[in-house]
Amino acid sequence: MISIDEALELVFDGLAPLGSERIPLAGAAGRVAAEPALSAVDLPPFDRSAMDGYAVRAADTAPGVQLRLVGGVAAGEVAAAVLEPGTAARVSTGAAIPEGADAILQSELAEEHDGHVAPARALAPDTHVRRRGEDLHAGTVLAPAGSVLTLPRISALASAGVGEVAVHRRPRLHLIVTGSELLPLGAPPEPGRIHESNGLMVSLLAAGAGAQLVDHGVVGDDRDATRAAVEAGLAGDVLVVSGGVSVGPHDHVKPAFEDCGVEEVFWRVRIKPGKPMWFGRRGETLVFGLPGNPLSTIVCFCVFIEPALRRLAGERDARPRLEPGRLTTPARASDGRTTYLTASLRAGADGVLEATPTERQGSHMTGALGESDGFAVAPEEAGELRAGAPVDVLRLV
Ligand code: AMP
Ligand code: MG
Repeated sequence: MISIDEALELVFDGLAPLGSERIPLAGAAGRVAAEPALSAVDLPPFDRSAMDGYAVRAADTAPGVQLRLVGGVAAGEVAAAVLEPGTAARVSTGAAIPEGADAILQSELAEEHDGHVAPARALAPDTHVRRRGEDLHAGTVLAPAGSVLTLPRISALASAGVGEVAVHRRPRLHLIVTGSELLPLGAPPEPGRIHESNGLMVSLLAAGAGAQLVDHGVVGDDRDATRAAVEAGLAGDVLVVSGGVSVGPHDHVKPAFEDCGVEEVFWRVRIKPGKPMWFGRRGETLVFGLPGNPLSTIVCFCVFIEPALRRLAGERDARPRLEPGRLTTPARASDGRTTYLTASLRAGADGVLEATPTERQGSHMTGALGESDGFAVAPEEAGELRAGAPVDVLRLV
């Protein structure tokens, strides 16, 4: 059995971002730039007023001087003429400053009557002027290739006149859920059957990782049906199959992979829950077989599949989203496998996330999962971890 790190290395082996497409900026939040996105304009794009007031020549200003008013410039307009010495033009915030003017006399410091305006004091050049290009110049890289288009970057690109960006294609994830025992969400209970939750969780987690989901629904434990679903599911970038990767007589997933020419890369990882995790490839398609226990599915998705999706979507450094935290009670890995313990997570007085493992632990303990905020990770080699020991945590939100 291999370690989590060895398994991740095999998943990432040769894994490159998907091709690129140009999309409107309005739909690009969270996507990854495939080419550097450059500012199309200087910012500010022209000399602008930072105040409501009067555009003036600073050299003309002194207490009591009368400057003759020569029309005005509203936001969105451009002054028709150069501002001559001894004159002033009314401007609103954000308006283009007339040529010749080099300062803004704010309304609060101005007295206007009889077509003239008198400053209360002398102004230095550049007072309340936002100079063209003082923020950045056209051609500045606002989002390097490989960077996530976060909201700050989207805002900057919008201001910088960019309407379209080149981003990596979103991975297309095909999902098959196996199990003859599975009841649909909210269905009335039936003897011997349980309610399906893995399909829902994979859909939610996949959406959060930026994948496009193609849902093949639930397939009963039948060899032919499983093979047909797998063949159809291999059409995308990633195929995820929930359940059926163990060695029971009703586990048809591995034979179906074999029948469809999917090459096994690994089966079984030293992770708890999630030991029967399966991974293989057919051509460019990554194929993940998730153990069916609900907690195994969630942990294995977060540890192996989510980073792969983020890599395909273009992120350079896609690793599992672990954060530093601290245990409040002792804990240890079991079975020699790195153990993900359901835990409540609270910020301690020093801001560090404090993880308190739930009393009930187990890959089927969905009730205990519901009492938690995610997982604390007890590494396989760490032995007994004392209360207060630093641990990685995986937050589920
Ligand atoms: P399997 O990996 O198919 O052997 O399933 C392991 C355990 O997880 C069994 O107890 C299944 O009933 C349960 N299980 C499998 N698939 C799901 C699912 N989609 N939702 C909830 N539980 C499941
Ligand atoms: Mg099953």
